[in-house]
Formats: sequence, C-alpha cells, structure tokens
Amino acid sequence: MPRQPKLLRFLLPLAAVLLPTSAAAHDPEQAEWSIAIHGGAGTLQRDAMTPEREAAYTASLQVALDAGAAILRDGGTSEDAVLAVITLLEDDPLFNAGRGAVLTWDGGISHDASIMLGEDRSAGAIAGVSTIRHPILLARAVMEDGRHVFLSGEGAEEFAGDHELERAEIEYFITPHRQRALERFRAREVALEDDEHRFGTVGAVARDREGNLAAGTSTGGMTGKRWDRIGDSPIIGAGTYADNRACAVSATGSGEYFIRAVVAKSICDLMRLSGMGPEEAGDNLMAEVEELGGSGGVIVVSAQGETAFSFNTSGMYRGRADSNGVNEIGIFEEE
Ligand code: ASP
Repeated sequence: MPRQPKLLRFLLPLAAVLLPTSAAAHDPEQAEWSIAIHGGAGTLQRDAMTPEREAAYTASLQVALDAGAAILRDGGTSEDAVLAVITLLEDDPLFNAGRGAVLTWDGGISHDASIMLGEDRSAGAIAGVSTIRHPILLARAVMEDGRHVFLSGEGAEEFAGDHELERAEIEYFITPHRQRALERFRAREVALEDDEHRFGTVGAVARDREGNLAAGTSTGGMTGKRWDRIGDSPIIGAGTYADNRACAVSATGSGEYFIRAVVAKSICDLMRLSGMGPEEAGDNLMAEVEELGGSGGVIVVSAQGETAFSFNTSGMYRGRADSNGVNEIGIFEEE
C-alpha cells in the first residue's frame, strides 16, 4: 500500500466529498460473485519464512478460499461462503482463531467473533468464550436469535447451551507454538506492540449472485491479554461490517486502534458517501490507524463485487476469487 503524504491524505477525502458525485464516482468492474479472505496481518519477512511453512499457509488459505468460492459459484449465499471459510480456518492450528488461538495471560483461551449481513444489516457477535469449537457459529446463532447483537463470557456460553453448537475441551484449542509465544510474552521477550503476538486472526467478506454482502471475523485476540480485554474483531463497525449499499469489511491488526478509528464502518461510509472505491477507502482508514500508532489490514468487497486488500504491515495472509476468473493467494507485501 503506497503511503501518501499527510497533506494529500487529508485533501483527497475532502476533494471526494466536494467534487460532484460523477467526478468522484468509482467505476468498478462488476463481478457476479466474489470473495476475499484473510488469515491475519503483521510483520513477516520472506527470508524468515521456510518454504514448507509458506506452502502450508498457502495450501490452507487455498482450501478455505475454494470452499467459499464453490458456494458462491453454485448460487449459495454470501453468509454461507463466509461461514465456510471461517470455520475451516478456525479448525486450522496455523491461525489465531478456534484451534491455534493465542493464549491469555493465565494460559487460557478467549475467543471473539462476529458476523454481519449487508441485506438487512443484521449482526451477531460474541466475546470471551472458551468452549465452542467454532466461535463464528455462535456469533451466527446470536444474529439468528435476533434479540441481541453482542454477548460475552459466561452469558454467551449459557446462550450456546440452547443451540446445537459443538463444544471442545481447552486442550483442543491450545498448541505448543502459542504456549511458547505466551512464555516469551510473559518473559517480556515480545513487546505488546510487537504484532507477532496476535498474528493470525481470520476473516472473510463476500458478495453473492443476489448482490448480498456478508462479513465475518474470528480471533483469539492478543497473546497475554488480561482483564477480559476485547479487541476490534467482535465489534460491529470496528472489525466487521456489511452494508449492501456500500461494502463488506473484515479487519485484522492491533485491535485497540481499529476500535478507535471505527475502521470497518468508516470504510463503508467513505464508499457510500464520497464514491470512493474499496481500495482507496481501505487505504484511507489504514492511514488513520497508522497515524494513531496501529498496524494491520483490511479486506473489502464492494456492492459491485470488487475486492481490495489494504495493509500497513509487511505481510497479510490473504486470498480472493471471483466470477471473472480471479483466484489468488498472497502473503507478502509485494505480491
Ligand atoms: N484484531 C485482533 C485483536 O485485536 C488481533 C488481530 O487481528 O491480529 O484482538
């Protein structure tokens, strides 16, 4: 993502608002269906990545992307595509969601997840749960129930009891890699601002053939988190947002900054109100996050099916596919 000088970053959005809509309007290539996915953004050096590790990440992302794309190709909903991608990545110990989630200060597990549909802006979110194999399915259950949007902790676990959701023991979620990460964090070998300790959140955004958008995000949060800390991932408007009038967004990064910049909803607002395309709007919000001191990235799909990635880190596990034949996986910045 090219960084713009500060003045330009200020003037561009202003110009977009002031210019007549026709001049500022974006002219995207229409895709009947499209999907973009991520598996987290952070510092990632190519020479520190072994070919085996790179192949493993690429293969996992491709399997998840293909599952989502197949649903959309067959006329399935964006909601189902997003859920298919996220449940697969939650099962995959490479990513910081479900199995393989980072550990809390006490060595525990605390999942956060959210989902939103662009058609009616219905949404469901959960935070601080530790016994549900697929946290994103609990978020979906909250959305379907419809009485509330956001449940947390014991209450969310109790709510899960009324729904047919698969449970898992804590041992299922914990991996040796995340245990070592916690030890290093507690020994202060890894600083709080080091994005290594939160890498691997997963998310997906999609547009289906009906033109409906959906977005979802699932994470274990940040290594060593305490005091029931909740990041941006389950916060509707910050880590996840979908609105058929504009876009669907899933974010990943240092959550505190994404909350303060209300990233996901702000990207949709820039697109809807100023006619920006998904990349420009994503870059704008990532510039704001960076200005506040945060790092990470977003995936965006527009109402017309155009997809975009925007990140200010050296790497972002990502992929996209659409009805025009696009099918790609990326890890490093230059890809
Ligand atoms: N945004 C997540 C959080 O702050 C972490 C991440 O996406 O890497 O909990």
